[in-house]
Amino acid sequence: MGRAPARRTLESLRAASAKGHDCPLAARATQTVFGEGDPHARVVLVGEQPGNDEDLVGRPFVGPAGKLLDRALEQAGIDRGRVYVTNVVKHFKWEPRGKRRIHAKPNAAEIAACRPWLEAELATIKPEILVCLGATASKALLGPDFRLMKERGRILKTPWAPKLLATLHPSAVLRAEDKPGQERLYGFLLADLQLVARELSQ
Ligand code: SF4
Repeated sequence: MGRAPARRTLESLRAASAKGHDCPLAARATQTVFGEGDPHARVVLVGEQPGNDEDLVGRPFVGPAGKLLDRALEQAGIDRGRVYVTNVVKHFKWEPRGKRRIHAKPNAAEIAACRPWLEAELATIKPEILVCLGATASKALLGPDFRLMKERGRILKTPWAPKLLATLHPSAVLRAEDKPGQERLYGFLLADLQLVARELSQ
């Protein structure tokens, strides 16, 4: 990772994160994909890492999973323009398969190396509600024993935000093996985001 600036704004963090990386993930990725969104967001959503599309464009959640997330946020009544989205790891980790670059899960050391960037984003934004999308983000913030499908959809108190809720990553919905499976998982994601919307309205 690069070095975070002493006086932090999201812009200075983004600029600093774009250079000076010595973690091996940076060497294989196109660019740093820093978080983006409302700097005064009441809700921060954090996923695992950028995917192929995000790596090429340089923005988080712009691929198929991001579009599904947009749909779920809209359906839940959460304005996408008023939230901030980011990932626990800021570079795309991938393995070659033919001409394609296939997502590879970041390991614990890579997540730990990247964590100061996430903590700096959270310390700058100070969200009321932090939403962990998927098991990687949930375990990164809640510990390795966290079981997503058992413990998702509950409001928890954490050092990073007064309220934290874990839910499915939209890419997990897309990976479901058939249409009924996708609809079932989408229903979980939507129900959890509706709970976030209710918390925001209180
Ligand atoms: S993944 Fe994180 S720690 Fe590794 S190079 Fe990218 S920003 Fe730095």
